[in-house]
Amino acid sequence: METLFKALCSVLPPERVSFSDVDLAAYSADSATPPGASACPLAVALPQSPEEVLHILQIADRLRVPVTPLARGSNIAGLAVPIQGGVVIDLRLMNRIIEINEDSAYALVEPGVTFHELSRALSEKGFFCHLPTASGGSSPLANYLMRPSGNYSARWDPDPLLSLEVVTPRAGIIRTGSAAFDSRLWRARYHCFPDLTGLFACSYGTLGIVTKASVKIFKRCEEERLLLIGFESLPPALEYMERIIRGNLVESVTFWTWGWNLFHEMMLSKQSQMPQEILKPDQKSPPEGVPFGIASARLNGYKEVVEAQQEVCIKIARELGGEYLENDLAKEHFPGCYNYLHSYFVKGILPKPGEESQIRAGLHLPGCLVSAGPSQILEIEKYMWELAKREFEPPYFYRVLPYSHAREFFFAFVVYVRGDIADQLPYIRKLRGIYGSLYSELLKKLGAVMFRYRKDPGFFALTGNYGQLLRRIKQLVDPNNIMNPGMLLF
Ligand SMILES: Cc1cc2nc3c(=O)[nH]c(=O)nc-3n(C[C@H](O)[C@H](O)[C@H](O)COP(=O)(O)OP(=O)(O)OC[C@H]3O[C@@H](n4cnc5c(N)ncnc54)[C@H](O)[C@@H]3O)c2cc1C
Repeated sequence: METLFKALCSVLPPERVSFSDVDLAAYSADSATPPGASACPLAVALPQSPEEVLHILQIADRLRVPVTPLARGSNIAGLAVPIQGGVVIDLRLMNRIIEINEDSAYALVEPGVTFHELSRALSEKGFFCHLPTASGGSSPLANYLMRPSGNYSARWDPDPLLSLEVVTPRAGIIRTGSAAFDSRLWRARYHCFPDLTGLFACSYGTLGIVTKASVKIFKRCEEERLLLIGFESLPPALEYMERIIRGNLVESVTFWTWGWNLFHEMMLSKQSQMPQEILKPDQKSPPEGVPFGIASARLNGYKEVVEAQQEVCIKIARELGGEYLENDLAKEHFPGCYNYLHSYFVKGILPKPGEESQIRAGLHLPGCLVSAGPSQILEIEKYMWELAKREFEPPYFYRVLPYSHAREFFFAFVVYVRGDIADQLPYIRKLRGIYGSLYSELLKKLGAVMFRYRKDPGFFALTGNYGQLLRRIKQLVDPNNIMNPGMLLF
């Protein structure tokens, strides 16, 4: 401890290193850590430059102390919890939007920048960025590294990363993409050599700490619109999404089931109690007058084009039995839902007020996040409803959105654990047990791939030679396995 203390204080000023119990306790959990799963670090360091990050990693490597990088700590899967103790590297002071390059359409950001800050700055210049349905206080850099879900522009592969600056314990500070050639060139992901940006994506801080990223930004056009279609079941909604995305009619579309839409009402009213309708035992049927789910799409382009695209979308929806919900009508009947969707899809700013009431009302447990082809998604939906009816307590619900030009769909099934979390521990343990085998079951039976890693080392083992090669790369960049070992990835 004393050696670590002295070493960290030799590279950072005392106000940016902490060993105090009170500070450390604040780093022991993330947004959905149940009792018993928290873990205190030995120290917290708040660097302000890549060089300071490098010094910390070199110290940790020398002393063989684990490090856990943290951008804004808003993930909900315990990914930044220092399970094996050691040093938490809190990156929130590295919070500059270094450049908004309108010419090449990218923004260069540090890890501490939030979605709110970036989308506000971009809005002023007539641009926007990929927005996941995550909280506005999350870091775009960290979120994009984890593969965002729920974002704009699902029409294209939702991969917003271009070049990165990464600090590793052994290879030092490296730059990927076009920035590898010159530290002023941030515009491109690919050039004539193999892509290393991808190596650090979905590595959850186990291979290096990303200190800068250039990310794609998109022009706001003359007309931006929200198009809402109600559906009474998933199959027609899925076909609708597939057709409008593959037909290049909308920029993005997401399907949320009724329970989730009622959560949006809760956000507006800032309620901390779950509304009774969400708790009804038959979770498959919505309350009277509420559609089973709403497909919400974003249109963005020249006015005449958007007008025509909307018309075609409505025609397709009607062919499939969907009901067009005019914005004014939706505003009147589902104000919270409209408010949420409009601010997310049209204004481009993530809704903040009331977000916390969702959290207060329970523990957000993303039961199942997978990606699969369209027909498999229908099978997965059936499987999850059956499982939920047998094992889960209300409320639970899902959302679906297209990826890769609707060749692949993202499916998120969410369970909320209500009441006093400590009292609910047996239920949480039961859920964790189910999730433990869920991903392998879905992969085996339905060809669904885990969307985000959930600390299931068995899943990594399924990747064969790919996993073996990754282990060898890990050996090269981090032979002492100090980089976020609590992830149990390697
Ligand atoms: C209520 C709620 C709903 C959410 N819904 C969604 C959703 O719909 N879609 C979605 O995409 N996300 C969603 N999220 C998840 C969340 O917003 C993302 O996990 C988040 O963007 C990443 O969190 P963060 O920025 O706070 O990073 P952190 O929690 O700090 O870190 C996340 C992971 O990345 C690693 N990491 C962080 N910074 C770096 C870095 N610079 N270099 C290397 N590794 C790093 C950490 O070690 C950790 O493993 C939701 C979260 C909440 C609380």
